[in-house]
Amino acid sequence: MTSNKQPEVNIGLVGHVDHGKTTLVQALSGEWTDQHSEEMKRGISIRLGYADATFRRCPEAEEPEAFTVEEHCEDHDVDTDYLRTVSFVDAPGHETLMATMLSGAAIMDGAVLVVSATEPVPQAQTEEHLMALDIIGIDNIVVAQNKVDLVDQEQAMRNYEQIQEFVEGTVAEDAPIVPISAQQEANIDLLIDAIEEEIPTPERDPSADARMMVARSFDINRPGTTWEDLMGGVLGGSLVQGELAVDDEIELRPGREVEEGGKTEWRPVTTDVRSLQSGGDFVDTVTPGGLLGVGTGLDPAITKGDALAGQVAGPEGTLPPTHEQFTMDVDLLERIVGDEGGEVEEISTGEPLMLTIGTATTVGSVTSARDGECEVALKRPVCAESGSKIAINRRVGARWRLIGVGTLR
Ligand code: GDP
Ligand code: MG
Repeated sequence: MTSNKQPEVNIGLVGHVDHGKTTLVQALSGEWTDQHSEEMKRGISIRLGYADATFRRCPEAEEPEAFTVEEHCEDHDVDTDYLRTVSFVDAPGHETLMATMLSGAAIMDGAVLVVSATEPVPQAQTEEHLMALDIIGIDNIVVAQNKVDLVDQEQAMRNYEQIQEFVEGTVAEDAPIVPISAQQEANIDLLIDAIEEEIPTPERDPSADARMMVARSFDINRPGTTWEDLMGGVLGGSLVQGELAVDDEIELRPGREVEEGGKTEWRPVTTDVRSLQSGGDFVDTVTPGGLLGVGTGLDPAITKGDALAGQVAGPEGTLPPTHEQFTMDVDLLERIVGDEGGEVEEISTGEPLMLTIGTATTVGSVTSARDGECEVALKRPVCAESGSKIAINRRVGARWRLIGVGTLR
């Protein structure tokens, strides 16, 4: 069921694999984010699955039982009242790459941390994702203690206490912990109540310049489409401020790499907004919240295959600078999060780091490292404001592991 109301807030679904994130999104939205082939065709799906859910309240029922996603309240035989539409950002099933979660975190206003009651707390990604929320500064959090249908009362209580202990001293310290069964759709009303309480719609400045974080980009044309029928490139992402309208002129940074006289450099790309899609509908204007599909006048060859993912879009001249290298203040974790743990050693000159800034992920090579600061040269430049948070990942064994947070000078 899709709503015709535009989502006004983005909520991340984070937590360990198989703990029930996707099942929960489905219970709340009726959509299965792992299968977005339908959306893919429309050209706006996202590697992070997105699904909108409309929260409603039964006017005749007591709270919290009154909270629901149903349009009709069976118990009292009345239609329910609209509260708001929220957009869930769900990390895909077997995505072990933190970068995907982190680039999603850049556009989250809050998060639901899903923790299975059937396993000891914390599992590796439970801890890692909570750390990431901490780093990005997301503190509107609800903990969903899931799969309580699979454990007895005593196990559920023990697990609940483990969660309490685990979140102590973290950004989720004061987060409510709501026992649920996503699969049985039990206590979903309590969860909605907690989300309504803990993850309010942020106040937005309507006069701010539009700024979109691009998380995906596509060529939505079928192979063999003739020139006359060719649709312009499509951008998928989220508006973080301002308002965007059809016919607006926009600029994308860093843009694209151009070669001229044997030299290559990155130049911003400008285009116009041809269509806007939000909350499943074509609209004339959009405000922040939810996933946005922007049809542009760009050559689809430029946008295909996520080529513009990680870029920033907005009115010409309003975007932050493009950096091909930068200096960041570094705050390292004490130890690597996860099963093997291990101390985090100082960053050394010459080592490669994977950096996530906004929705951009880029590999950088350390050109100088001193106490608490480090200079990196980027493979692909990023468009980012001074003061932006940077998730720093180091290759440990076969995968990139989060080792700290940087702040752009
Ligand atoms: P994700 O990796 O966190 O997205 O987890 P999924 O939503 O894909 O769920 C993993 C498995 O757990 C699936 O087989 C679900 O059917 C099952 N599952 C999820 N939530 C519950 C629940 O509340 N109770 C039970 N019994 N199974 C659940
Ligand atoms: Mg999943």
